[in-house]
Amino acid sequence: MKDSSELAILGGTPAFTNQLYVGRPNIGDRSAFMGRVNDILDRRWLTNNGICVQEFERRLEALLGVKHCIAMCNATVALEITIRALGMTGEVIVPSFTFVATPHSLQWQQITPVFCDIDPETHSIDPRRVESLITPRTTGIIGVHLWGKPCAIEALTEIAHRRNLRMLFDAAHAFGCSHNGRMIGSFGDAEVFSFHATKFFNTFEGGAVATNDDELAARIRLMKNFGFAGYDTVVYIGTNGKMSEISAAMGLTSLEHLEEFIAINRRNYAAYASGLADLPGVRLVPLEGTDRYNYQYVVIEINEQAAGIHRDALLQALHAENIMARRYFYPGCHRMEPYRSYFPNAGLLLPETELLVQRVLSLPTGTAVTEEDIINICAIIRLVLENGVKVAKVLA
Ligand SMILES: *Cc1c(COP(=O)(O)O)cnc(C)c1O
Repeated sequence: MKDSSELAILGGTPAFTNQLYVGRPNIGDRSAFMGRVNDILDRRWLTNNGICVQEFERRLEALLGVKHCIAMCNATVALEITIRALGMTGEVIVPSFTFVATPHSLQWQQITPVFCDIDPETHSIDPRRVESLITPRTTGIIGVHLWGKPCAIEALTEIAHRRNLRMLFDAAHAFGCSHNGRMIGSFGDAEVFSFHATKFFNTFEGGAVATNDDELAARIRLMKNFGFAGYDTVVYIGTNGKMSEISAAMGLTSLEHLEEFIAINRRNYAAYASGLADLPGVRLVPLEGTDRYNYQYVVIEINEQAAGIHRDALLQALHAENIMARRYFYPGCHRMEPYRSYFPNAGLLLPETELLVQRVLSLPTGTAVTEEDIINICAIIRLVLENGVKVAKVLA
């Protein structure tokens, strides 16, 4: 174990020779994947609703308990298409504390994202603040299951029903999670998953829309394939949102490891929980209760007053040790372009978001991170906090 003078930020050697990442891809059985790739090449059917994509979709439907699951090239395009297929226009209420793809998928089609503040307890959109943002132009709400924690599904859905709004969930973080015994995927009008390489379950690039609405599913299927209803018949404006066979092959292989990936994330989360327990000014975002989680993000909040150090100084000290923690999601979508120019005063209505973006830190986890690594990381965090004054001095 290091002593304070050995911290890399104070001139010592980094604790890790190789960098540890938040979203290092989890990779399943190589030979199973390669076998599927060989079959794809033998079939010479590389995309356009191939065998692997069809099988992947049926498996997802069974796993999620939904009528329709439509695999896509990524979650951003899946969000764009679903938003369009739901007929959202005008304004849509979204959190600012999310990955920028959430508002971009609206703004990309000239729909105004109206940023709603979050509940500091859950980090998700605060349903108590939604109604005051509804105007005659509002057509929908997008809730984000941040960190794989189901957001306030019932409260948001109730508002959407009562005010005749569409209810979409960005479930990019919540694959494999459940709420009240029901898998995420079957709530609202639709839910969108991301299978990007940095998510714990990946298809290289990829995503999927889950819905129980037959008509909506049919519309999305057409829209993700240029609107083609037959060889030469186009019945809608569409785009290209198709998942390729190689991605689906990765998805089928990853599915065989889903429980294993979750178990490792859960073990890692527990190791962080015990390693960070009783550290003043550090709050690990809790994942407890009856819902099921995938534990793919280990998120801490640093309260500068109590911790004796600002989150950014801790981040620099960790990076010096090759612990590549990330400020997810900094600085908040409302402070990124184009939103920052469109709504320069948005922050006034987002006090909790403004506070939280200064405090959050995502820590390395996934199958590439061992329990021993985590014990080490926690000891370093402890050491940095104990030497907050020295570290701040070096950084000044
Ligand atoms: C990763 C992510 C997306 C975008 O997913 P892609 O598959 O990379 O397009 C959307 N929303 C959230 C909350 C995300 O974390």
